[in-house]
Amino acid sequence: MVNPSNILEVNDLCKNYKERKAVDNLTFHIKRGEIFGLLGPNGAGKTTTLSMLVGILKPLSGTIYLEGERFNGSPQSRSILGIAPQELAIYPKLTGRENLRFFGSLYRLSGAELDRRTEEILSLVGLSDRADNLTEEYSGGMKRRLNLAAGLMHNPKLLLLDEPTVGIDPQSRNHIFEGVRRLNKEGLSILYTSHYMEEVEALCHRVGIMDGGRLVACDTVPNLISTAGNAVVVVTLGEEASDAQIQELRSLPGVVDIECMRTDEPIGSSLLRVHALEPDRLLSSLVSRLNSSGLSLLSLTVQRPTLEDVFLSLTGKSLRD
Ligand code: ATP
Repeated sequence: MVNPSNILEVNDLCKNYKERKAVDNLTFHIKRGEIFGLLGPNGAGKTTTLSMLVGILKPLSGTIYLEGERFNGSPQSRSILGIAPQELAIYPKLTGRENLRFFGSLYRLSGAELDRRTEEILSLVGLSDRADNLTEEYSGGMKRRLNLAAGLMHNPKLLLLDEPTVGIDPQSRNHIFEGVRRLNKEGLSILYTSHYMEEVEALCHRVGIMDGGRLVACDTVPNLISTAGNAVVVVTLGEEASDAQIQELRSLPGVVDIECMRTDEPIGSSLLRVHALEPDRLLSSLVSRLNSSGLSLLSLTVQRPTLEDVFLSLTGKSLRD
Protein backbone atom coordinates (compact mmCIF):
# COMPACT_ATOMS: atom_id res chain seq x y z
CA MET A 1 0.00 0.00 0.00
CA VAL A 2 1.56 3.28 -1.11
CA ASN A 3 1.50 6.17 1.37
CA PRO A 4 -0.18 9.17 -0.35
CA SER A 5 2.09 11.64 1.47
CA ASN A 6 5.11 10.16 -0.34
CA ILE A 7 6.04 11.30 -3.84
CA LEU A 8 8.53 8.43 -4.23
CA GLU A 9 8.74 4.98 -2.68
CA VAL A 10 11.64 2.66 -3.43
CA ASN A 11 11.43 -0.91 -2.13
CA ASP A 12 14.18 -3.56 -2.09
CA LEU A 13 15.83 -2.17 -5.21
CA CYS A 14 18.79 -4.21 -6.50
CA LYS A 15 21.18 -3.78 -9.42
CA ASN A 16 24.27 -5.80 -10.28
CA TYR A 17 27.01 -5.12 -12.79
CA LYS A 18 28.12 -8.69 -13.48
CA GLU A 19 29.02 -10.04 -10.02
CA ARG A 20 29.25 -6.60 -8.39
CA LYS A 21 26.25 -5.49 -6.32
CA ALA A 22 26.00 -1.78 -7.17
CA VAL A 23 22.63 -1.34 -5.39
CA ASP A 24 21.71 -3.85 -2.73
CA ASN A 25 18.16 -4.02 -1.34
CA LEU A 26 17.70 -0.29 -1.22
CA THR A 27 14.49 0.93 0.46
CA PHE A 28 13.61 4.57 1.10
CA HIS A 29 10.88 7.12 0.45
CA ILE A 30 10.64 10.84 -0.24
CA LYS A 31 7.76 12.81 1.25
CA ARG A 32 6.02 15.44 -0.81
CA GLY A 33 7.76 18.79 -0.38
CA GLU A 34 10.89 17.24 1.06
CA ILE A 35 14.56 17.66 0.14
CA PHE A 36 15.95 14.16 0.58
CA GLY A 37 19.71 13.65 0.46
CA LEU A 38 21.49 10.51 -0.67
CA LEU A 39 24.95 10.76 0.82
CA GLY A 40 27.75 8.33 0.10
CA PRO A 41 31.36 8.12 -1.07
CA ASN A 42 32.37 7.51 -4.69
CA GLY A 43 31.05 4.17 -5.83
CA ALA A 44 28.33 3.92 -3.14
CA GLY A 45 25.65 3.39 -5.79
CA LYS A 46 24.02 6.83 -5.97
CA THR A 47 24.20 7.29 -9.76
CA THR A 48 23.06 3.70 -10.36
CA THR A 49 20.05 4.38 -8.11
CA LEU A 50 19.18 7.58 -9.98
CA SER A 51 19.55 5.80 -13.32
CA MET A 52 16.94 3.27 -12.21
CA LEU A 53 14.66 6.03 -10.93
CA VAL A 54 14.62 7.70 -14.35
CA GLY A 55 14.28 4.46 -16.30
CA ILE A 56 17.75 4.43 -17.93
CA LEU A 57 18.69 1.23 -16.07
CA LYS A 58 16.38 -1.69 -15.37
CA PRO A 59 16.48 -2.90 -11.77
CA LEU A 60 17.42 -6.52 -11.15
CA SER A 61 14.57 -6.60 -8.62
CA GLY A 62 12.53 -4.29 -6.42
CA THR A 63 9.86 -1.67 -7.04
CA ILE A 64 9.64 2.09 -7.58
CA TYR A 65 6.41 4.00 -6.98
CA LEU A 66 6.16 7.56 -8.21
CA GLU A 67 3.12 9.62 -7.19
CA GLY A 68 1.45 6.39 -6.06
CA GLU A 69 1.88 4.64 -9.44
CA ARG A 70 4.32 1.85 -10.24
CA PHE A 71 7.10 3.51 -12.26
CA ASN A 72 7.44 1.92 -15.69
CA GLY A 73 9.72 4.39 -17.50
CA SER A 74 6.95 5.61 -19.84
CA PRO A 75 7.15 9.23 -21.06
CA GLN A 76 4.10 10.06 -18.94
CA SER A 77 5.63 8.74 -15.71
CA ARG A 78 8.97 10.37 -16.56
CA SER A 79 7.31 13.77 -17.04
CA ILE A 80 6.85 13.98 -13.27
CA LEU A 81 10.64 13.93 -12.96
CA GLY A 82 13.17 16.67 -13.58
CA ILE A 83 16.73 15.46 -14.00
CA ALA A 84 20.09 17.17 -13.73
CA PRO A 85 22.54 14.37 -14.56
CA GLN A 86 26.18 14.36 -13.50
CA GLU A 87 27.30 14.36 -17.15
CA LEU A 88 26.40 17.68 -18.76
CA ALA A 89 23.51 17.36 -21.21
CA ILE A 90 23.57 20.76 -22.92
CA TYR A 91 24.52 21.84 -26.44
CA PRO A 92 27.75 23.89 -26.65
CA LYS A 93 26.88 25.52 -29.98
CA LEU A 94 23.60 26.90 -28.68
CA THR A 95 23.25 29.85 -26.33
CA GLY A 96 21.92 29.36 -22.80
CA ARG A 97 18.49 30.64 -23.83
CA GLU A 98 18.42 28.48 -27.00
CA ASN A 99 19.31 25.42 -24.95
CA LEU A 100 16.43 26.01 -22.56
CA ARG A 101 13.99 26.71 -25.39
CA PHE A 102 15.08 23.46 -27.02
CA PHE A 103 14.50 21.42 -23.85
CA GLY A 104 11.19 23.22 -23.24
CA SER A 105 10.00 22.36 -26.76
CA LEU A 106 10.87 18.68 -26.16
CA TYR A 107 8.26 18.85 -23.41
CA ARG A 108 5.83 20.53 -25.84
CA LEU A 109 6.06 24.01 -24.36
CA SER A 110 5.52 26.71 -26.98
CA GLY A 111 4.55 30.35 -27.52
CA ALA A 112 4.15 32.64 -24.53
CA GLU A 113 4.43 29.75 -22.06
CA LEU A 114 7.83 28.74 -23.47
CA ASP A 115 9.00 32.40 -23.39
CA ARG A 116 7.86 32.89 -19.81
CA ARG A 117 9.27 29.63 -18.48
CA THR A 118 12.64 30.18 -20.21
CA GLU A 119 13.11 33.62 -18.64
CA GLU A 120 11.87 32.45 -15.23
CA ILE A 121 14.33 29.54 -15.14
CA LEU A 122 17.25 31.62 -16.47
CA SER A 123 16.67 34.05 -13.62
CA LEU A 124 16.33 31.24 -11.06
CA VAL A 125 19.79 29.88 -11.87
CA GLY A 126 21.31 33.38 -12.20
CA LEU A 127 22.09 33.19 -15.93
CA SER A 128 19.80 35.90 -17.36
CA ASP A 129 22.72 38.21 -18.15
CA ARG A 130 24.64 35.46 -19.97
CA ALA A 131 21.63 33.95 -21.74
CA ASP A 132 22.79 35.02 -25.22
CA ASN A 133 26.31 33.60 -24.97
CA LEU A 134 27.15 30.25 -26.54
CA THR A 135 27.34 27.72 -23.72
CA GLU A 136 30.80 26.60 -24.90
CA GLU A 137 31.91 29.99 -23.55
CA TYR A 138 30.39 29.31 -20.11
CA SER A 139 32.48 28.45 -17.04
CA GLY A 140 32.12 24.94 -15.60
CA GLY A 141 29.81 26.24 -12.88
CA MET A 142 27.60 28.11 -15.35
CA LYS A 143 27.28 24.94 -17.45
CA ARG A 144 26.18 23.01 -14.35
CA ARG A 145 23.59 25.68 -13.55
CA LEU A 146 22.24 25.49 -17.10
CA ASN A 147 22.18 21.70 -16.83
CA LEU A 148 20.00 22.06 -13.75
CA ALA A 149 17.82 24.66 -15.50
CA ALA A 150 17.18 22.29 -18.44
CA GLY A 151 15.72 19.72 -16.04
CA LEU A 152 13.24 22.28 -14.71
CA MET A 153 11.69 23.56 -17.93
CA HIS A 154 8.68 21.22 -17.85
CA ASN A 155 7.78 22.04 -14.24
CA PRO A 156 8.47 18.61 -12.72
CA LYS A 157 7.19 17.47 -9.31
CA LEU A 158 10.33 15.64 -8.24
CA LEU A 159 13.79 16.94 -9.14
CA LEU A 160 16.69 14.47 -9.19
CA LEU A 161 20.08 16.11 -8.75
CA ASP A 162 23.17 13.94 -9.20
CA GLU A 163 26.12 15.60 -7.46
CA PRO A 164 25.21 19.02 -8.90
CA THR A 165 28.16 20.89 -7.39
CA VAL A 166 31.08 18.63 -8.28
CA GLY A 167 34.03 20.73 -9.40
CA ILE A 168 32.33 24.11 -9.45
CA ASP A 169 33.20 27.55 -8.09
CA PRO A 170 31.65 28.88 -4.84
CA GLN A 171 29.49 31.42 -6.68
CA SER A 172 27.83 28.75 -8.82
CA ARG A 173 27.45 26.51 -5.79
CA ASN A 174 25.61 29.30 -3.99
CA HIS A 175 23.34 29.86 -7.01
CA ILE A 176 22.52 26.15 -7.02
CA PHE A 177 21.86 26.11 -3.26
CA GLU A 178 19.60 29.17 -3.45
CA GLY A 179 17.80 27.72 -6.47
CA VAL A 180 17.23 24.38 -4.70
CA ARG A 181 15.88 26.14 -1.59
CA ARG A 182 13.62 28.43 -3.61
CA LEU A 183 12.23 25.59 -5.73
CA ASN A 184 11.58 23.56 -2.61
CA LYS A 185 9.74 26.49 -0.97
CA GLU A 186 7.53 26.57 -4.07
CA GLY A 187 6.62 22.93 -3.40
CA LEU A 188 9.11 20.94 -5.50
CA SER A 189 10.32 17.68 -3.93
CA ILE A 190 14.03 17.07 -4.42
CA LEU A 191 16.40 14.12 -4.34
CA TYR A 192 19.90 15.49 -3.85
CA THR A 193 22.85 13.14 -4.15
CA SER A 194 26.25 14.19 -2.96
CA HIS A 195 29.41 13.01 -1.30
CA TYR A 196 29.77 16.40 0.40
CA MET A 197 28.30 16.06 3.88
CA GLU A 198 28.25 19.87 4.37
CA GLU A 199 25.83 20.17 1.44
CA VAL A 200 23.32 17.62 2.64
CA GLU A 201 23.60 18.94 6.22
CA ALA A 202 22.76 22.42 4.97
CA LEU A 203 20.01 21.52 2.50
CA CYS A 204 18.25 18.28 3.28
CA HIS A 205 15.32 17.54 5.57
CA ARG A 206 16.23 13.86 5.70
CA VAL A 207 19.30 11.98 4.58
CA GLY A 208 19.92 8.40 3.50
CA ILE A 209 23.53 7.32 3.93
CA MET A 210 24.72 4.80 1.32
CA ASP A 211 27.78 2.59 1.35
CA GLY A 212 28.57 -0.34 -0.91
CA GLY A 213 25.11 -0.17 -2.52
CA ARG A 214 23.29 -0.41 0.81
CA LEU A 215 21.44 2.15 2.89
CA VAL A 216 23.25 2.14 6.22
CA ALA A 217 21.15 4.86 7.91
CA CYS A 218 18.24 7.16 7.10
CA ASP A 219 16.86 9.97 9.25
CA THR A 220 16.82 13.73 9.80
CA VAL A 221 20.27 15.34 10.05
CA PRO A 222 19.95 16.10 13.82
CA ASN A 223 18.80 12.54 14.56
CA LEU A 224 21.65 11.05 12.54
CA ILE A 225 24.17 13.32 14.21
CA SER A 226 22.86 12.41 17.66
CA THR A 227 23.94 8.81 16.99
CA ALA A 228 27.57 9.89 16.58
CA GLY A 229 28.16 10.88 20.20
CA ASN A 230 28.12 14.13 22.13
CA ALA A 231 29.52 17.51 21.29
CA VAL A 232 32.78 18.41 23.01
CA VAL A 233 33.60 21.81 24.53
CA VAL A 234 37.37 22.21 24.31
CA VAL A 235 38.68 24.54 27.03
CA THR A 236 42.26 25.77 27.34
CA LEU A 237 43.18 26.85 30.88
CA GLY A 238 46.19 28.90 31.96
CA GLU A 239 47.06 26.29 34.57
CA GLU A 240 46.28 22.72 35.50
CA ALA A 241 42.96 22.16 37.21
CA SER A 242 43.01 20.18 40.46
CA ASP A 243 41.00 16.99 40.90
CA ALA A 244 38.57 18.86 43.14
CA GLN A 245 38.04 21.60 40.53
CA ILE A 246 37.40 19.00 37.83
CA GLN A 247 34.97 17.21 40.10
CA GLU A 248 33.05 20.49 40.50
CA LEU A 249 32.88 20.93 36.73
CA ARG A 250 31.70 17.34 36.33
CA SER A 251 28.72 18.08 38.53
CA LEU A 252 27.37 20.75 36.14
CA PRO A 253 24.07 19.69 34.54
CA GLY A 254 24.59 18.38 30.98
CA VAL A 255 28.23 17.35 31.47
CA VAL A 256 28.72 13.74 30.41
CA ASP A 257 32.45 13.38 30.94
CA ILE A 258 35.63 15.44 31.18
CA GLU A 259 39.06 14.51 29.87
CA CYS A 260 42.06 16.56 31.04
CA MET A 261 45.47 16.81 29.48
CA ARG A 262 48.54 19.00 29.91
CA THR A 263 49.63 21.13 26.98
CA ASP A 264 52.89 22.94 26.39
CA GLU A 265 51.39 25.93 24.64
CA PRO A 266 51.46 28.12 26.59
CA ILE A 267 53.74 26.45 29.09
CA GLY A 268 51.88 25.15 32.14
CA SER A 269 48.46 25.33 30.52
CA SER A 270 46.01 22.45 30.30
CA LEU A 271 43.22 21.28 28.05
CA LEU A 272 39.81 20.08 29.15
CA ARG A 273 37.56 18.18 26.75
CA VAL A 274 34.09 18.51 28.22
CA HIS A 275 31.63 16.06 26.62
CA ALA A 276 28.24 17.75 26.75
CA LEU A 277 24.65 16.85 25.95
CA GLU A 278 23.69 20.38 24.91
CA PRO A 279 26.83 22.51 24.64
CA ASP A 280 25.00 25.78 23.98
CA ARG A 281 23.08 25.50 27.26
CA LEU A 282 26.20 24.47 29.16
CA LEU A 283 28.50 27.29 28.06
CA SER A 284 27.46 30.06 30.46
CA SER A 285 27.39 27.81 33.56
CA LEU A 286 30.73 26.30 32.54
CA VAL A 287 32.37 29.72 32.16
CA SER A 288 31.02 31.01 35.48
CA ARG A 289 32.11 27.83 37.29
CA LEU A 290 35.62 28.18 35.83
CA ASN A 291 35.72 31.81 37.02
CA SER A 292 34.43 31.05 40.50
CA SER A 293 37.01 28.24 40.81
CA GLY A 294 39.77 30.75 40.06
CA LEU A 295 40.79 29.03 36.83
CA SER A 296 41.95 31.26 33.96
CA LEU A 297 40.15 30.57 30.71
CA LEU A 298 42.40 31.09 27.65
CA SER A 299 40.12 29.76 24.90
CA LEU A 300 36.94 27.79 24.38
CA THR A 301 35.64 26.06 21.24
CA VAL A 302 32.73 23.72 20.58
CA GLN A 303 33.32 20.65 18.41
CA ARG A 304 30.07 19.12 17.20
CA PRO A 305 29.81 15.73 15.49
CA THR A 306 29.07 15.89 11.76
CA LEU A 307 27.63 13.48 9.23
CA GLU A 308 31.25 12.54 8.53
CA ASP A 309 31.43 11.20 12.11
CA VAL A 310 28.13 9.37 11.60
CA PHE A 311 29.49 7.74 8.44
CA LEU A 312 32.72 6.84 10.21
CA SER A 313 30.90 5.28 13.15
CA LEU A 314 28.64 3.26 10.82
CA THR A 315 31.20 2.05 8.29
CA GLY A 316 34.61 2.57 9.89
CA LYS A 317 35.56 4.57 6.79
CA SER A 318 35.82 8.20 5.83
CA LEU A 319 33.37 9.66 3.30
CA ARG A 320 36.34 10.91 1.32
CA ASP A 321 38.35 7.69 1.00
P1 ATP B 1 30.14 8.58 -7.70
O1 ATP B 1 29.94 9.49 -6.53
O2 ATP B 1 31.59 8.31 -7.96
O3 ATP B 1 29.37 8.94 -8.90
P2 ATP B 1 28.15 6.60 -7.05
O4 ATP B 1 27.76 6.55 -5.61
O5 ATP B 1 27.25 7.35 -7.95
O6 ATP B 1 29.63 7.13 -7.19
P3 ATP B 1 27.83 4.40 -8.90
O7 ATP B 1 28.36 5.19 -10.06
O8 ATP B 1 26.39 4.11 -8.86
O9 ATP B 1 28.27 5.09 -7.52
O10 ATP B 1 28.65 3.03 -8.82
C1 ATP B 1 28.31 1.96 -7.92
C2 ATP B 1 29.23 0.77 -8.19
O11 ATP B 1 28.94 0.20 -9.46
C3 ATP B 1 30.71 1.14 -8.22
O12 ATP B 1 31.43 0.06 -7.65
C4 ATP B 1 31.02 1.27 -9.70
O13 ATP B 1 32.37 0.94 -9.96
C5 ATP B 1 30.08 0.22 -10.31
N1 ATP B 1 29.64 0.61 -11.66
C6 ATP B 1 29.00 1.75 -11.99
N2 ATP B 1 28.69 1.77 -13.31
C7 ATP B 1 29.16 0.60 -13.81
C8 ATP B 1 29.17 0.01 -15.12
N3 ATP B 1 28.60 0.63 -16.16
N4 ATP B 1 29.75 -1.20 -15.26
C9 ATP B 1 30.31 -1.84 -14.22
N5 ATP B 1 30.34 -1.35 -12.96
C10 ATP B 1 29.77 -0.14 -12.75
